[in-house]
Amino acid sequence: MEATLTIIFGLIIGSFLNVVIHRLPLGENVVFPPSHCPRCRADIPFYLNIPLLSYIFLLGKCRSCRGKISAQYPLVEGFCAFSFWLTVHNYGLSLQAAASAVFICLLIALAAIDIKHMILPDELTLSAAAFFFIYSFFNPEIGQLDAVLSGLGGALFFAGLYFFYLKIRKIEGLGFGDVKMALFMGLFLGLHRLTVAIFLASLFGLLVGIFIIVFKKKNLKLALPFGPFLSLGSFVSLFWGDAIMAWIGSFWRLL
Ligand SMILES: [Zn+2]
Repeated sequence: MEATLTIIFGLIIGSFLNVVIHRLPLGENVVFPPSHCPRCRADIPFYLNIPLLSYIFLLGKCRSCRGKISAQYPLVEGFCAFSFWLTVHNYGLSLQAAASAVFICLLIALAAIDIKHMILPDELTLSAAAFFFIYSFFNPEIGQLDAVLSGLGGALFFAGLYFFYLKIRKIEGLGFGDVKMALFMGLFLGLHRLTVAIFLASLFGLLVGIFIIVFKKKNLKLALPFGPFLSLGSFVSLFWGDAIMAWIGSFWRLL
């Protein structure tokens, strides 16, 4: 029962995230007007606006113009539902579960917007930093000092990389959005999990980069947004970061 309600709630929030992902970068209001097809602007009636199910029922096509509905919609809804379930499974119905859900929603929205537009909007990253700074006073998992130092440390680390790329290689290797994203990641994850998150993000980024260069025959100067990798790294680290850290620790002691 609890799991079912959590999943339904996750689907609804995922549906709202899709609206945020679509409208926020365009500077549109995320609440009004109600849902419409981005192609033909036809209104979507409430009975065809049911997360996941409508997409399947409509076979991924708009009812009015038969245009393809982006796979982003069911993917975001499904992933949001899954991660809400995972959150409640991990933390029960608690304050930490609610904060984790907010964190995951931000990760999803930022990843999708970065893939589509190569930006990480301040509206999300800076609001998140403010939110998780306030939450650091209540976070039962990490101390406030850990949160603040990790946030600042993460931001400084990426700011360093940003200026390194800019000065040495004369390219914008990273956006400044990544700096602000690392700030709120550190504020919520703390030092251990932030380290794991950045390590995983770099690893995933490297693997995808190699894959693209080898199989798509693109050159090395391809611009790959880093936000999605930071999101994925943070998500994995939120749930399994401590286990990964312990595993690395035990491995280290063997040497
Ligand atoms: Zn349409």
